[in-house]
Amino acid sequence: MGKVLVIGAGGVGTVVVHKMVSLPEVFSEILLASRTKTKCDAIAERAGKDRVDTAQINADKVPQLVKLINSFRPDIVVNVALPYQDLHIMEACLRTGVAYLDTANYEPLDEARYEYSWQWAFHDRYRKAGITAILGCGFDPGVTSIFTAYAAKHHFDELHYLDIVDCNAGDHGKPFATNFNPEINIREVTQKGRYWENGKWLYTKPHEIHKPLTYPDIGPKESYLIYHEELESLVRNFPTLKRARFWMTFGQEYLTHLRVIQNIGMAGIEPVMFDGREIVPIRFLKALLPDPGELGENYKGWTSIGCRIRGIRDGKEKTYYIYNNCSHEAAYKETGAQAVSYTTGVPAAIGAMMYLKGTWKKPGVFNVEEFDPDPFMEQLNMLGLPWNELHDVDLEL
Ligand code: NDP
Repeated sequence: MGKVLVIGAGGVGTVVVHKMVSLPEVFSEILLASRTKTKCDAIAERAGKDRVDTAQINADKVPQLVKLINSFRPDIVVNVALPYQDLHIMEACLRTGVAYLDTANYEPLDEARYEYSWQWAFHDRYRKAGITAILGCGFDPGVTSIFTAYAAKHHFDELHYLDIVDCNAGDHGKPFATNFNPEINIREVTQKGRYWENGKWLYTKPHEIHKPLTYPDIGPKESYLIYHEELESLVRNFPTLKRARFWMTFGQEYLTHLRVIQNIGMAGIEPVMFDGREIVPIRFLKALLPDPGELGENYKGWTSIGCRIRGIRDGKEKTYYIYNNCSHEAAYKETGAQAVSYTTGVPAAIGAMMYLKGTWKKPGVFNVEEFDPDPFMEQLNMLGLPWNELHDVDLEL
């Protein structure tokens, strides 16, 4: 059906390529390109090497990207490199007239600032050129935004309160590791908390607000209010929301390590001089930490991510909880990657499928909740991320 260029050969790229290889009727040709070609070759080898071509690319260089895209002529580029590359890849897609999809919003290298403004600024140019860009098509952002759109479409007349709850109840057996790129992950979880209430953003100290929440088939886990990027587009696209928050579970051991890392300056993103050369502490730390892509082998347990929503249906208040539980072991068995990479990579592959099938195709730059959720939700059930719904339950929030 279509040709796809995947950029980024990490944990998420591994899953994206595995899923695409399993769907030859949708993804007829796959090219995987990344900074380190040997990593692409290893993924291609595991996923089915006769189905995947590989290439080296520096995705920070727009002319290189343009050349690669023009030589392969994909229908869509799936960006699962790092958020720093988003604008370069979007620019290259614009110049070559090819659709774009990613799983994380742009952030500048020198500032841990997450916002869509830079990517939304491409909207008019994409619209005029007749090209589609699909933003935030992982799990969160991604499926959580699609769950919200699905709830608004089928179960509510008005959404009032949204709490996205993200639990990783897995154990990888390491004293400290992050589940996706350590640099991006640590920048995300150490920033100030932020949530939307009554038309404005409210800020908290990092991890200041927390409470135990009960996750289906897992039980209670201490959950911390943090800022997460999908809140920005969701409050814009669902303006009836009076409050929108995001909660993530952290173990005590993880938080203790994080505190030490911060206290000694290892989470710093400003360069420091060391032995006569500049190094960025968090990048050096990344070099020491376990590679998230390698955590899968001994990972046990489940992730549980969903949306807890309160709103109005037929004049009455209603509560609703929609979630997916994903097994680290099953994800590893299928793709060689753990559940955090799996829950991100599968939705990215489905998003690309939606585009190729023509169901998610409109000129401009859009967040996933701006498309019809139904065909995507159907594919989640078929491609390894089945979801469950609970109606009129205690949301604990
Ligand atoms: P990894 O660090 O494992 O992989 C990133 C890949 O991008 C690596 O292969 C890396 O190359 C490559 N890369 C980095 N810079 C460049 C560059 N300039 N040019 C070409 N390739 C480059 O990250 P993950 O797989 O864990 O995460 C991938 C993305 O998914 C991230 O943006 C992350 O934020 C996002 N994500 C989204 C989630 C969601 O639910 N929405 C959840 C988890 C992650 P090299 O191998 O040489 O280092």
